[in-house]
Amino acid sequence: MIKKSGSQTELKKNVLEQSLCTGCGACVGLCPYQVIYDDRTVQLFNCDLPDGKCYAFCPRTPADYDHIRKSLFNIDDLTPEIGAVKGYYFSRAFDPRQRVNVQHGGTVTVLLELAMAEGMIDSAIVSSRNNEFEQHGLLVTDQNQLRGYSKSWFTVSPTVSTFNRIPDDRKKRTGVVATPCQATALAKMKTAEIPGYNRSDLPGLVIGLFCGWTLSMGKFSNLLGRYGVSLADLTGMDIPAGKNILEIFTGSGLISVPMAEVDHCVRTACRYCMDSTAEFADLSVGAARFGADCEEMRGWNQIIVRSDRGKQLLELAIAKRALQIREAPPSALQELKNAAAGKKKKALKNIVEKSHSTKNLLYLKSDDPIVRKYLRVDRKRKRKS
Ligand SMILES: Cc1cc2nc3c(=O)[nH]c(=O)nc-3n(C[C@H](O)[C@H](O)[C@H](O)COP(=O)(O)OP(=O)(O)OC[C@H]3O[C@@H](n4cnc5c(N)ncnc54)[C@H](O)[C@@H]3O)c2cc1C
Ligand code: SF4
Ligand code: SF4
Repeated sequence: MIKKSGSQTELKKNVLEQSLCTGCGACVGLCPYQVIYDDRTVQLFNCDLPDGKCYAFCPRTPADYDHIRKSLFNIDDLTPEIGAVKGYYFSRAFDPRQRVNVQHGGTVTVLLELAMAEGMIDSAIVSSRNNEFEQHGLLVTDQNQLRGYSKSWFTVSPTVSTFNRIPDDRKKRTGVVATPCQATALAKMKTAEIPGYNRSDLPGLVIGLFCGWTLSMGKFSNLLGRYGVSLADLTGMDIPAGKNILEIFTGSGLISVPMAEVDHCVRTACRYCMDSTAEFADLSVGAARFGADCEEMRGWNQIIVRSDRGKQLLELAIAKRALQIREAPPSALQELKNAAAGKKKKALKNIVEKSHSTKNLLYLKSDDPIVRKYLRVDRKRKRKS
């Protein structure tokens, strides 16, 4: 029987002290006992509540993830590699002026602007940077301001803590931009069964980001120092397809850092993460990097439609000419699925190496069909070699 509830002490022992904390912020802002310090989640005091929301919402505590998947999405849409798929396309902002100062095609920003303009939501939580260039969630209530918070910075943003702090009566009118671990936390909120917890105050829309990893601020800052730049010099970052480099844009030019040098900056928790496409979001958006001309595709996103709400928003974006859509070839979807399956296998391998047992999968259930599928593939390979 899986343990669905737990205390703050168990959160500390099983998540924080096991380097499993993703920094999503879901356990922060619920009580005064947990805070974000630099880019870490810290417990200031102990709380003896046996079933805390912090434990229940954390994406790294055990839960019946198969049940969550099946209760939030249409079972017929579920795929093992990337979760629910109602539709899959390439997209970018229709208006070329809206493709400036965005990460790829500006799809996320355009969708949020439209959702606000059409009254689907009246505010959105995006990620902003403070004077130390640490990221945090920011509630934006004016759609004209969303553009100021576009782009990806590849460091952690405890966005869900901002969601926890907004008044309950606002929550269902709020959209959230979420990495896969943040979207998982929000899905756990939607399905949590805690005595006295009322699930009516949940986000109205979750736009997920594809995510390979995030970087530890301290280590990344040291790495930048070796190239003679600091966090303050960054004007953008990207991971171009097939080049195995991290591109760092600064006011004085582009620096290409080999991935081998970036690898040690990746947060430990990301090595145990199975989700690369934000499987629990309404819509998920990533970079489109397929076909012969990767450079041309740089200005495009790939988008997965997962829920009815996501479908409704994308259809509106097409009808209102907010987004330009290009049919994605089946090979692109297959390529995405292969990459996502690769992340799942790697995460499971790392989890087993950490726990020393295929029976103890830390926050995952060994009888979850997705876990069984990718653990089995790995075991078969081992037997052959
Ligand atoms: C940590 C991280 C890792 C990623 N890894 C991959 C990857 O491996 N493969 C891939 O295809 N795409 C990845 N992405 C997604 C990609 O970088 C783009 O965000 C996505 O393609 C959307 O592009 P866009 O032009 O629509 O975004 P924009 O319109 O520029 O909007 C980006 C939105 O993301 C928000 N945001 C930025 N950083 C964060 C953060 N840390 N947490 C939450 N929200 C944030 C911004 O506030 C903004 O609302 C990653 C993004 C992040 C943040
Ligand atoms: S993963 Fe998120 S919810 Fe869990 S301990 Fe870390 S910040 Fe808190
Ligand atoms: S790799 Fe996973 S754990 Fe790390 S930031 Fe991305 S979604 Fe979260």
